[in-house]
Amino acid sequence: MSTYTVINPATATPVKEIELADLATADATIQKANKAFESWRLVNPGDRAKLLRNFARVVDEHIEELAQLEVLNSGHTIGNARWEAGNVRDCLNYYSAAPERLFGRQIPVPNGIDITFKEPLGVIGIIVPWNFPMPIAGWGFAPALAAGNTVVLKPAELTPLTAIRLGELALIAGIPEGVFNVIPGKGSVVGERFVTNPLVRKIVFTGSTTVGKGIMRGCADQVKRLTLELGGKSANVIFADADIEKAAAGAPGAVFDNAGQDCCARSRILVQRSVLDSFLEKFEVAVKKFRVESPELETAEMGPLISAGQLARVREYVPEGSEIAFEGTKPSGDGYWMAPTVLLAKSTSDRTYREEIFGPVVSVLPFDDEADAIRLANDSEYGLSGSIWSRDIGRAVRVSRAVEAGNLSVNSNSSVRYWTPFGGYKQSGLGRELGPDALDAFTETKNVFFDTNS
Ligand code: NAD
Repeated sequence: MSTYTVINPATATPVKEIELADLATADATIQKANKAFESWRLVNPGDRAKLLRNFARVVDEHIEELAQLEVLNSGHTIGNARWEAGNVRDCLNYYSAAPERLFGRQIPVPNGIDITFKEPLGVIGIIVPWNFPMPIAGWGFAPALAAGNTVVLKPAELTPLTAIRLGELALIAGIPEGVFNVIPGKGSVVGERFVTNPLVRKIVFTGSTTVGKGIMRGCADQVKRLTLELGGKSANVIFADADIEKAAAGAPGAVFDNAGQDCCARSRILVQRSVLDSFLEKFEVAVKKFRVESPELETAEMGPLISAGQLARVREYVPEGSEIAFEGTKPSGDGYWMAPTVLLAKSTSDRTYREEIFGPVVSVLPFDDEADAIRLANDSEYGLSGSIWSRDIGRAVRVSRAVEAGNLSVNSNSSVRYWTPFGGYKQSGLGRELGPDALDAFTETKNVFFDTNS
């Protein structure tokens, strides 16, 4: 068995050595989850609901511990990490209301009765990236378990600690052995095995578009069910009639939160030309005030990048001597730090403007009118998120209907709530997580006709 040493990205120091599962362990864990499915699917809905509420309660009792662990492992600011642990609790509570409400339908037919059932799928393989280890795991496992499936969860190599702890907390909460399994391992070994092992009936993958496409190709072999949450290059569209002060004050958080390692990062700012200078002036003040500091500090708004490799990848987009408009600050010393960086796009074909950088880099581009703004916002292979700022309600409605993205916010940058759907258009993904319909992604609809003449 190989191991991986978890590194604290704020200090570049080792935290803990983790064993990585090999193929045999992956298969044994999948087998165990498949065995547990036989009884978990039959747990009466009220009891399954109670167990999930218990799990939520135990997570709630460990919010601070989980948050501190995430700060250590991922360099997330303590404020964000508390929210992330709380989000797992909230997802569990929300979907704990599902088991007794997984209704089928009764459809009128001649000579009998027709009923549909929402049946669980079996073992669900959840593959999680390193940027939001807790919430992304919870968005998969909470509805999956509620619908009567069992789960095998593979955290990202870089960030396994909170997932491992959540696995332990599930057992403390009384979730039966084998129902919720966490196996740290390499994507190329454990993740791949989820795709090829026929006992895994569905994959929930969140990560890069390139890896997601490979998984989609692999799933075709068994027509395996699949949800994909992939990359993004979201637009923050600011019209001249907007509250420019508010839009500028919110723009750093919209892209530099989690050091820009956020699939929803508004990393393209489109500003109506007549207010470009006024916006940039206010945005510069906000960027320079944005607190990039040790993530343990309560005041921190941004921490380090996740790894030396990620820092090098992001820096490669803005090498020494690049033309930048302005930048924020960063602490000196060890750790994978980068200052928030603002670029003025020269053209829509700039690499920095088109590609998902997944770091604290944003490009600003002016537009002329509403049609131009919509055209620019949609000129991307991605379509995950975005913001629209305008005081004209008609325009806000028109533009939010026209932008091809799954999660938009108007006069706000907030796009994630556990009770509303989340997911991407185009190459940002396939399917939706969260909200009232997520259960559909973890069930098969079975139709049964009962002949009443016999
Ligand atoms: P990644 O694709 O490198 O890895 C994601 C996960 O997939 C990891 O657990 C990894 O071990 C695993 N993996 C890697 N190769 C695999 C393979 N061949 N088969 C199966 N599993 C494999 O992505 P990352 O660098 O960890 O995360 C960053 C990416 O995730 C960004 O592109 C970001 O936009 C995206 N993301 C999307 C969302 C969303 O909801 N749309 C949310 C967060 C992150």
